[in-house]
Amino acid sequence: MIRLNDITAGLLSYNPKADTTMVQKAYVYSAKVHQGQVRLSGLPYLSHPLEVAHILTEMKMDVTTVVAGLLHDTVEDTDAELSEIERLFGKSTANIVDGVSKISRIQFNTREERQAENIRKMILAMTTDIRVIMVKLADRLHNMRTLGFHSPEKQASIAKETLDIYAPLAGRMGIYWLKSSLEDLCLFYLEPEIYNKINQGIAERRGFSEKFIKEVIAILNDKMKQSNIEATVKGRHKHFYSIYCKMRDQNLNVDQVYDVIAFRVIVRTLKECYEVLGIIHSMWKPVLGRFKDYISLPKANMYQSLHTSVVGPYGQRMEIQIRTWEMDKVAEEGIAAHWKYKEGLIGTADQKQFGWLKQLLEWQKNLQDPKEFMEMVQMDLFPNEVYVFTPKGEVKEFPKGATPVDFAYSIHSEVGEKCSGAKVNGRMVPLRYQFNNGDIVEIITSGKQHPRKDWLEFVKTTKAKSRIRQWIKNQERDESIALGKNILEKALEQAHLEAQNITKNEQLETVAKDFSLNSIQDLLANIGYGLISSNQVIGRLKPQETESEKAEGLMKKMVARLTRKKDTKGIKVKGLDDVLVRFANCCHPLPGERVIGFITMGRGVTIHKHDCKQMLDADSRRIVEVEWEPSEEDVYMARLKITSEDKKGILADISSIMAQREANIIQAEVKTTMDKKGVSFFTIQVNNYKHLEGIMGAIKKIKEVLIVERI
Ligand code: MN
Repeated sequence: MIRLNDITAGLLSYNPKADTTMVQKAYVYSAKVHQGQVRLSGLPYLSHPLEVAHILTEMKMDVTTVVAGLLHDTVEDTDAELSEIERLFGKSTANIVDGVSKISRIQFNTREERQAENIRKMILAMTTDIRVIMVKLADRLHNMRTLGFHSPEKQASIAKETLDIYAPLAGRMGIYWLKSSLEDLCLFYLEPEIYNKINQGIAERRGFSEKFIKEVIAILNDKMKQSNIEATVKGRHKHFYSIYCKMRDQNLNVDQVYDVIAFRVIVRTLKECYEVLGIIHSMWKPVLGRFKDYISLPKANMYQSLHTSVVGPYGQRMEIQIRTWEMDKVAEEGIAAHWKYKEGLIGTADQKQFGWLKQLLEWQKNLQDPKEFMEMVQMDLFPNEVYVFTPKGEVKEFPKGATPVDFAYSIHSEVGEKCSGAKVNGRMVPLRYQFNNGDIVEIITSGKQHPRKDWLEFVKTTKAKSRIRQWIKNQERDESIALGKNILEKALEQAHLEAQNITKNEQLETVAKDFSLNSIQDLLANIGYGLISSNQVIGRLKPQETESEKAEGLMKKMVARLTRKKDTKGIKVKGLDDVLVRFANCCHPLPGERVIGFITMGRGVTIHKHDCKQMLDADSRRIVEVEWEPSEEDVYMARLKITSEDKKGILADISSIMAQREANIIQAEVKTTMDKKGVSFFTIQVNNYKHLEGIMGAIKKIKEVLIVERI
């Protein structure tokens, strides 16, 4: 069993100035709260956090991480409170312990291969401090090493999860020894027979292998000396899992896998890496397609090395990796290597392409003291994504800020359209709720629900957006078809034309074609929108239209188009995008005033004041909601009646107010009444209702003015 001394000694070996008092304190605390708990192995529970902390020293982590390793199970498995951890061991430690607990709490019960990457991303997205991942990986390594005490089912499921999620995470962190250890342990539990075969196969060849390794190392050392390159050459068996992958992918037996031995040449400079490569390729024949230059194109986790395979002595295939000491350190320690030294690691060139690690390095560059690095890595590895679960445990990826509506549309358009509510982690939430990582989302649908325009304000995915828009468009079309049908039927009746089943009328089909439309539906939609008048249609249904009538029709069409272009400005008809709009002559509504729209027969929508008398008897089905789209350029007419004392100069006063307020006077007339009152009428141009109100207010303030009214 690991002792406290092993941990502090390990820590001091790579960080001689480390303050180990916190480690001791954490040890005492962990021992206290875990007291009485026992591992399945029969050992005291404390053995687990001790082992984890020790692994963290092997990963060369900082003091805070090692302390967090000792405490990582206290909040989850004992009565210890996070607040207490924070008080005793500081905020960073508490944050790491909390992060590890959160990941442990999530049930990854999906077994689908394609889900693994999403789960890995989710873990990273949940992580604000990269050290959480380090502790979790160390925790998993020790749990894998003691997996034998579990039931076979549990062994298989934990090993599978480790292989799918944690081993690749270790790879992404660049800690290859940890990745290999996890993979080999997984293979042992998942494919025990194959594991044993590989073990046996390697044992049988051991004699030859050792001789072979010695020989190759001797040859390489010799060559290096001749070329004046100071190099260290190492040879080893590849790890079992990589041999297994080769067997699986190429359908081979263990004795058919030849390149089970890999060599590594470590040199001082980058230039020497390529020199060594040249020497090796001149000595042994390279295997085609096996050369990889991770120096000029490093992996996302900053791994750099040259890889090649050659046919060595005895016709034996062997893989050779060539790299500098710095690169070797990165390959061994991964991320940890980056905070310990700053120089010589990577060329300054294409740092930008290194994906998520770029952020880490940017941080590092700005730090004076590299030791601060790990302390400072509080970041979002996937700042633009959020990961949530389906009730079945499937992980789905969304853009940050995504809502239940996005989720519903991601399942199926129909689910999106009928999405009436959602439960997140078992609780009802509003449809505009924004997901947090790890949320379990359940969509509630209702046959009565349909997409709403305001959904567009909060959905984040393109799919949801385009489907909602499509639905609204279709809906509007349906409405306008119904409206158009209604209008046309009435017009036909008035014109005494037969009108049975107008949706299948051959003549109408011809008319539709005349308007370059594909179907009667389109024609009706256009009438509904007010783009085509019912009179235009009826005109064409009447036989034998003369040339002049045709010309007149064309003229009208052109005029209608011109009018539409001019008048539509400034007003928006709810639910309809492209509709002919004109302002009613009866009430002259102004921007800012409450208005309604009335769908006229063939002349689009007329805008009235909401209380216009004309509208009292109007067919309510043809009234549509409209709103103003104010624009600086537009002007509107208003007519004012001003009653005042009959006094000289009053007209000048009134018109100067209008001029000051930049209202154009189009027309003015003055009358004197029997009782010696002056009555003046002005027609002016104003920008909107507020503008007019201001003018009227100012005129009222003139002493002699009695009444100002709008007519
Ligand atoms: Mn643990």
